[in-house]
Amino acid sequence: MKVNHHALELEQNYLFSEVAKRIRAFQAAHPGRELLKLSIGDVTRPLAKIITDEMKAAAEDMSHAETFHGYGAEQGEPFLREAIAGYYQKRGIAVDPADVFISDGAKCDLGNLCDLFDADNTVLLPDPVYPVYYDTNIMAGRRVIFARGTKENGFLPMPDADVHADIIYLCSPNNPTGAVYTKEQLAAWFAYAKENGALILFDAAYEAYIRDPELPHSIFEIDGAERCAIEINSLSKTAGFTGVRCGWTVVPRTLQFDGASLHDMWFRRMATKYNGTAYIIQRAAAKVFTEEGLRAVHGDIDYYMENARIIKAALTKAGIHSVGGGNAPYVWMECPGGADSWTYFDYLLNSFGIAGTPGAGFGAAGQGWLRFSSFGTRETVTKAAEYLAALI
Ligand SMILES: *Cc1c(COP(=O)(O)O)cnc(C)c1O
Repeated sequence: MKVNHHALELEQNYLFSEVAKRIRAFQAAHPGRELLKLSIGDVTRPLAKIITDEMKAAAEDMSHAETFHGYGAEQGEPFLREAIAGYYQKRGIAVDPADVFISDGAKCDLGNLCDLFDADNTVLLPDPVYPVYYDTNIMAGRRVIFARGTKENGFLPMPDADVHADIIYLCSPNNPTGAVYTKEQLAAWFAYAKENGALILFDAAYEAYIRDPELPHSIFEIDGAERCAIEINSLSKTAGFTGVRCGWTVVPRTLQFDGASLHDMWFRRMATKYNGTAYIIQRAAAKVFTEEGLRAVHGDIDYYMENARIIKAALTKAGIHSVGGGNAPYVWMECPGGADSWTYFDYLLNSFGIAGTPGAGFGAAGQGWLRFSSFGTRETVTKAAEYLAALI
């Protein structure tokens, strides 16, 4: 038996375990000192009652023969796919319910989509970015190259016409930087993808956090993108579903690569290796897209975004440069004095009890930066902001 040697090429998941280790050391050294955790990459607000009530009603349905549901439709329940298409339609984006696939989350879809692509492809990733794109492609043995985010480009790297790529990942709003591409910038990526015969995988997990009405929420806002892009989204950050698990992927039937339909391939892949998202969860997910559901989840998003505003305002007051925060639940801070990410992480932790996440853990271009998440409580954020505003 031989193992997949590419799986052994993965680096140990060092970032979050190292952050946790240093936090434990801080707490052991300073018993009773308050920890101000701005390193949380998970939502903290409970589910809206309207959502859990729907789960209960769906669970009740499962207990009666007349309303019981066994295996569901392969692509997901039609009522949920229609609700998602309706959500896009509100922004004037045409997505056909027949192109929507329901899943148990965006991370799984991002990893599973790798089944559709040959190992002999060059993958272009933004740096810094969500580590899942890198790890899943390393496991599949693909070449990975980077488009580097910098202070100068506002952590919104643009394509280089001299570099060829076959698969391009974009994450907008970006995790960890909170930077969001404009429509013109996405159009430039689209033109580059067309020129290269490349596929764009667009991760829109944070689109619900966008405040600026000019910024695009979907790659399908770009004319023609239905011929070169797949969009991945999830209710994890939009509706607090990180522990509930429900995502979706739009694979247009117009996508043709290498003589094959990616839609048909994805359908076959899902039918082969997935047996559907729980009916109860799909019911709850559909509730999110109702008027009352959206009102409820936007209340929580507003809460997180006010946290982001408070963190950003504190940094601005201290004269520290940062990116993000206005249209994403992350503020990306430049470490003052040219400090490296881990040195500044230690300084904030040991001096003020503030935990961020070192930017270097999200890619080489993150060195010298720190990510603050706005998923904490208002109390924690307000206390941390007092210290941050006084940084020199
Ligand atoms: C949190 C997150 C997701 C969501 O993943 P799920 O598996 O749906 O919970 C997707 N992409 C990015 C960039 C994220 O940060």
